[in-house]
Amino acid sequence: MERLIEGAGKLGMKLTTGQVKQFELYYQELVEWNKKMNLTAITDYSSVQVKHFLDSLTVTLALPEEVTSPDFNIVDIGTGAGFPSVPLKILFPEPGLVLLEPTRKKTAFLHHIIGKLALKNVEVLNSRAEEAAHLPAYREQFALVLSRAVALLPTLVELALPFCRIGGTFIAQKKGEIGEEVTRAKEAIAVLGGALRQTRKVESDEFADARYLVIIDKIHSTPGKYPRRPGVPKRRPI
Ligand code: SAM
Repeated sequence: MERLIEGAGKLGMKLTTGQVKQFELYYQELVEWNKKMNLTAITDYSSVQVKHFLDSLTVTLALPEEVTSPDFNIVDIGTGAGFPSVPLKILFPEPGLVLLEPTRKKTAFLHHIIGKLALKNVEVLNSRAEEAAHLPAYREQFALVLSRAVALLPTLVELALPFCRIGGTFIAQKKGEIGEEVTRAKEAIAVLGGALRQTRKVESDEFADARYLVIIDKIHSTPGKYPRRPGVPKRRPI
């Protein structure tokens, strides 16, 4: 895990021996399960350390200070094999975490990996965001909403902001040329009760392409009709 240890160090984090062992185990299980189902196209040891583990940990650049407070909680929309929130949970074990993922095979892996890594206070929710966001147990309940590689921003904010409590934050991980995507999302952000705080470039020579954290504050309640029916946010973004 040398590349991860070094990259995390540059982000200001020193991984403990226990955390390194957890990442090692995560890697082994990911690759093993990937033989029987499609979890990731990235499987070589070095690339997983950088493109999955370290990339997930770049979220720490924008984490609110309250991350260790008892009522802090996180939901990861479309987490797939657990990115970005499972690496984050390895570093910050305290906050409650909901892993939202509609593909049942992936949720089987998520159940397996949280058991293997002995992570506490984690719920795996097998649902689409459009459905789960209307359930009172999840609607406007989270201090932090995360999402990586799920949808273009105008769609993604409709899937994510309804989960965020007022005063909370949504961080979307994005890469490439995102200026126009962010501009196109501005109306949706406002309609859904958000305010764009910052598009922060991740300064790291570990990544060949440009990576960004789009940081959105939740300042008003999301109108009850959002998110719209499954598939509509993608087909007809606000
Ligand atoms: N976030 C993970 C990562 O960065 O590796 C997975 C990214 S994968 C490209 C996109 C994931 O989003 C898939 O696992 C898919 O099932 C999930 N997804 C797609 N539409 C969704 C929706 N409407 N609600 C929740 N999850 C969704």
